[in-house]
Amino acid sequence: MIFYEEITRGSVGFAQTVIMNMLMSTYFIYRFGTEEMKQRCMVPAIRGEKIATICFTEDQSGSDLGATRTTAVKDGDEWVINGTKMWITNGAICDFCTVLCTTDPGKGLKGLNFFLVEKGTPGFSSGQTLNKLGCRGTITGELVFDNVRVPAENFLGEELGKGVFYVGEILEEVRVMTAAMALGIARAAYDEALEFSRKRVAFGKAIGNYQLIRAKFADMATEMHAARLLTYHAAWLLDQGLSARKEAAMAKLFATEACQKVVDEATRIYGANAFAYEYAPQRHFRNARFVLYGGGTQEILKNFLGREIIGKV
Ligand SMILES: Cc1cc2nc3c(=O)[nH]c(=O)nc-3n(C[C@H](O)[C@H](O)[C@H](O)COP(=O)(O)OP(=O)(O)OC[C@H]3O[C@@H](n4cnc5c(N)ncnc54)[C@H](O)[C@@H]3O)c2cc1C
Repeated sequence: MIFYEEITRGSVGFAQTVIMNMLMSTYFIYRFGTEEMKQRCMVPAIRGEKIATICFTEDQSGSDLGATRTTAVKDGDEWVINGTKMWITNGAICDFCTVLCTTDPGKGLKGLNFFLVEKGTPGFSSGQTLNKLGCRGTITGELVFDNVRVPAENFLGEELGKGVFYVGEILEEVRVMTAAMALGIARAAYDEALEFSRKRVAFGKAIGNYQLIRAKFADMATEMHAARLLTYHAAWLLDQGLSARKEAAMAKLFATEACQKVVDEATRIYGANAFAYEYAPQRHFRNARFVLYGGGTQEILKNFLGREIIGKV
């Protein structure tokens, strides 16, 4: 988590790529791939020699994975994949991807499974590239699967229909990781605003001397400290092999909101300069929106926490 925070502080785009390679995409190969597949895909991805990505999202389904329309149909010793994925980080330049498909379209979440698809497989191509608000250091877009045939061993699982269960295995880590990314963005904005407040002079004094500017730093530092404690506590639980179901969701919920508040205040401290592309605050302001989506939106996290806390009544 410290590592994720640090690399995100430097570049969100770079962090996205590293995290895809280290966790999101390769996890399923690590768990279910053949030894040969691990050497061909996972090891080079972790070394940074190949680019990996994961494909959940579609045009009509993001949070609602049960609505996945991309299908995988068994044909002899092969699986045939058809569908289009959207919002895929590094999609156009990936060497391989793990793709969430339904093998049983009527079954919702119980029909979901992961498959490995590698660059160069006939029928596998990239479609439109999205012109994004932030995270502009990565290419994000559409991946198209048109009768893509993969061997039976590219099915990444023990038995059919457990794909969503495997997502659950890394969901807590993904949520804590996203909280750490939020901290990284907030810290970059905070550190730069602090430096600016010491240099920028108004009414004959550096603006850092004014109480209202100091109050902003008091609030920002408190938000970040609270976010860090929640994030590190959830990470600590995972390190101990304990469940962090609620704690990971709380960390993501709190840290990503804290991130929005910190970048907003940092932007105000920069005055009009925050509105110029020459200065950094606008970049943090735009990048901060990214952490609100992956690993569960605020609404999905609150639904989840509400269910965990109240249960069925
Ligand atoms: C920069 C970037 C990179 C991304 N990279 C990837 C990637 O590499 N691979 C990938 O698969 N995806 C990727 N995504 C997509 C991301 O995972 C999705 O945006 C996310 O899952 C949310 O889905 P959605 O955007 O379709 O929103 P939706 O699920 O359609 O939600 C729309 C709105 O409705 C709300 N909502 C939905 N359901 C409920 C409910 N039950 N109750 C209350 N409110 C609800 C949501 O909170 C949200 O406010 C990326 C997104 C971004 C912005």
